[in-house]
Amino acid sequence: MSLAERARRERAIERACGVVAQCRKCEIGATRRNSVYGEGDPCASLMVVGEGPGETEDKLGRPFVGRAGELLDRMLLSIDLPREDVFICNTVKCRPTMDTGTRLANRPPMPDEMRNCRPYLDEQIEIIRPRVILALGAPAAKSFMGEKFSISKQRGQWFEGPLGTPVIATFHPAYILRQTGGAMSEVKRLVWNDLKAVRDRLQAVPDTPPPEQHTLFE
Ligand code: SF4
Repeated sequence: MSLAERARRERAIERACGVVAQCRKCEIGATRRNSVYGEGDPCASLMVVGEGPGETEDKLGRPFVGRAGELLDRMLLSIDLPREDVFICNTVKCRPTMDTGTRLANRPPMPDEMRNCRPYLDEQIEIIRPRVILALGAPAAKSFMGEKFSISKQRGQWFEGPLGTPVIATFHPAYILRQTGGAMSEVKRLVWNDLKAVRDRLQAVPDTPPPEQHTLFE
């Protein structure tokens, strides 16, 4: 990738990020502290898409920070991808919340919020042109594969996404962290298989380095 192309993409992302920062199409646009556009390499081969920012992400304006973010970093490293080599974003750029009476709690994004925000995600895919998209969790997976997609039955399978980009889904790191004991080991085993599928797909392209042996991320 030429330096000029990298610079063009950086400018396009900066512009789009500024537009998102002004956006108030949904009610959550008014309750957020920060919009969370996404971050990473504008020339990334892999784009990771989660469902939406949580409390820490909203506070810092960055995607996948906190415990789930740390686990995502370890998952990516297990397939030789440092976080900074990937582009990480969400289906919605504002934190979806519900008022419990005492505090604002996280909730999954509503269909209309995902619809409103979709042009920003499509624009990110258009700018970055990743070779593979990894969707984390059911809401993100359904946003690409449709409402009938089952994360438990269809994770680890390849689908065709926007601009013909191969898309695969796996469990969200926050879901992995909620498991205990044998259930956690089993979920990790499944996720590791999905990550290997991502690695193999990326390595199917000639300019990538030879595979290294890794054990399951811890
Ligand atoms: S979720 Fe997306 S579309 Fe809705 S207000 Fe936030 S940036 Fe705008």
